[in-house]
Amino acid sequence: MTEPTPAVRDRVLSLPSGELPAYVYDLTALRTHAAAVREALPERVELYYAAKANPEPEILAALGPYVDGYEVSSGGELAHVAGAVPGRPLAFGGPGKTPDEVTAALETGVERFHVESAYELRMLAELARTYAPGRRVAVLLRVNLPVADGSLAGSSLAMGGRPTPFGMDPAQAVEAVRALTDGTYPNLELRGIHAHLASGLEAAEQVAVAESIVTWATGLGVPLAEVNVGGGMHVDYADPERRFDWAAYGKGLARLSEEHPELTLRIEPGRALTAYCGWYATEVLDVKRSHGEEFGVVRGGTHHLRTPATKGHDQPAAVLPVDTWPHPWPRPAAEGERVTLAGQLCTPKDVLARHVPASGLRAGDRVAFSLAGAYAWNISHHDFLMHPRPGFHFLSAAG
Ligand SMILES: *Cc1c(COP(=O)(O)O)cnc(C)c1O
Repeated sequence: MTEPTPAVRDRVLSLPSGELPAYVYDLTALRTHAAAVREALPERVELYYAAKANPEPEILAALGPYVDGYEVSSGGELAHVAGAVPGRPLAFGGPGKTPDEVTAALETGVERFHVESAYELRMLAELARTYAPGRRVAVLLRVNLPVADGSLAGSSLAMGGRPTPFGMDPAQAVEAVRALTDGTYPNLELRGIHAHLASGLEAAEQVAVAESIVTWATGLGVPLAEVNVGGGMHVDYADPERRFDWAAYGKGLARLSEEHPELTLRIEPGRALTAYCGWYATEVLDVKRSHGEEFGVVRGGTHHLRTPATKGHDQPAAVLPVDTWPHPWPRPAAEGERVTLAGQLCTPKDVLARHVPASGLRAGDRVAFSLAGAYAWNISHHDFLMHPRPGFHFLSAAG
């Protein structure tokens, strides 16, 4: 369990039932965390935030002072992020970019294109002639590199070194490097290499992956200015207090960066930046026993917080007891020590956390699910069963 911050706790307890469920974000906690991440990284390493983890404008803005830019993965994210944090550098990645999206990105003046295929490179060159005349457009080639055996063993979502729709195989990337350096595409500039190979890696594994990417990129034998080694830093939903070891990662990147003084290294985490600043808060509607197991049914469910269903984990939860009970009918309460917290959807998959220590849990008690600041609301199937949407609260000591 991670306890909500005092500000979040106060807000969750002060909201009327009708305003639950709610997403409550602690922007002060987000700023503190982002500042610590930035501090742990060498000055020369650039930090981009992968907006897909949580693109709420308040989150993007709060991260502003600590990041060098934002990574966007669609035309929608591009327009949204450009509007929410105007003037900040953007890198445009993701498979299946449409001609319209590429055109919009050229017109927006995106700083970097992360090119995913030879076809996309060709399309970009053609469109750039029309929509970015007289400009050389900066390109990072996204490469799907096989990574050293075992270094991705702990990863939950490996994307590198096996068949995926992401990036180019090394041999295809070498072809693309040739096309970018032999005059085929004079209006494109090969700025560097990009790779995002896995998610859920610990610091030592991340350093090893970064090292293989840089070694491969510098072995191409062409001058490169940048290598983007991606995101995917581990967030431990089973042990939320144990955070990614940014200090160890920073040290590894510092060493790598000293070995390659000509290169700017860049990382683009999403989850590990914003997961910790969000809570999905709700109240218990019913407590019941089913074939020997106790269930607390909460207002809302996985249509708002799909993360535990997609990742197959129990979302960490804290119970905030409420002593008043407004109804004339009796208040149901748990008899045992452990309660499974489920939502209001008519599917057995709508479980937020199993066997939560919640002795005596009563209807009307509140529950705050933590680590709900990334891949939470924005990956959820909001309209299934047509329950009302949650409220959104962005708490900030700065006002
Ligand atoms: C999703 C994604 C990220 C961020 O991954 P996290 O696991 O949230 O850190 C970074 N780069 C690319 C290309 C991505 O697709």
